[in-house]
Amino acid sequence: MPLIAADGVSKSFGLTEVLRHVSLAVAAKDVVCVIGPSGSGKTTLLRCLALLEQPSAGAVTMNGVTIASARDSSEQRRAAREVRPDIGMVFQHFNLWPHMTVLGNVIEAPLRVKGTARSEAIQKAEALLAKVGLSDKRDVYPNRLSGGQQQRVAIARALAMSPKVLLFDEPTSALDPELRQEVLMVMRQLAGEGMTMLVVTHEMGFARQVGTRVVFMDAGEIVEEAAPKTFFTAPSSERAKRFISQLQ
Ligand code: ADP
Repeated sequence: MPLIAADGVSKSFGLTEVLRHVSLAVAAKDVVCVIGPSGSGKTTLLRCLALLEQPSAGAVTMNGVTIASARDSSEQRRAAREVRPDIGMVFQHFNLWPHMTVLGNVIEAPLRVKGTARSEAIQKAEALLAKVGLSDKRDVYPNRLSGGQQQRVAIARALAMSPKVLLFDEPTSALDPELRQEVLMVMRQLAGEGMTMLVVTHEMGFARQVGTRVVFMDAGEIVEEAAPKTFFTAPSSERAKRFISQLQ
């Protein structure tokens, strides 16, 4: 059974259908890279999985339990509430709380959402900051950090909830090229440790080297899903071929 899945998910904003019957299953330890042209619905799919958008049709499931669909029910809301801490999210623009220190950002959700004891939350946060190479930034505010450092804090913050899956929405797109690698390195390390990840990205090197699967979207649909090597060397659809040829 997949850890998290979209099952025939459609999403419309007003009259515009942005996702058309998208089905995608992410198993434990998968690193699924979602790629495709701008406006193809990648972020919207991710936001549906993150419970930030409600599907217009279809369902999002976690371990087989429906956590989002077009129909609201108290049972579904309860299921969503229960699994929400298991779904971590890393945004394009980091979204750190500017009025809190790095440590404050990382301990906030465990303290407030999980009711973790402060000393325990701090201990875990310090370990996570060490993991992302930012132990020395523990007490500074986000505006004193580079974009790459801020994104690494955002990853530590997401990990602080011990999520079962991490969703990344173009995590390096807002960064200068020289700052991207430090974020990609942390993501690569997480993948190596067996973290289940779904990554919307324009980083084809990462998709090729770290992804266990590539999902190619165009015009609100999943056009192709393949092992990275297969996708980049022998894509089967014309749209994917065109997309890949434009990368060079
Ligand atoms: P991608 O991530 O592939 O660039 P998005 O999922 O961000 O694609 O967007 C897909 C389409 O949906 C775009 O045409 C975008 O303008 C539209 N869209 C996304 N969010 C909204 C919204 N909140 N309201 C209206 N249209 C939206």
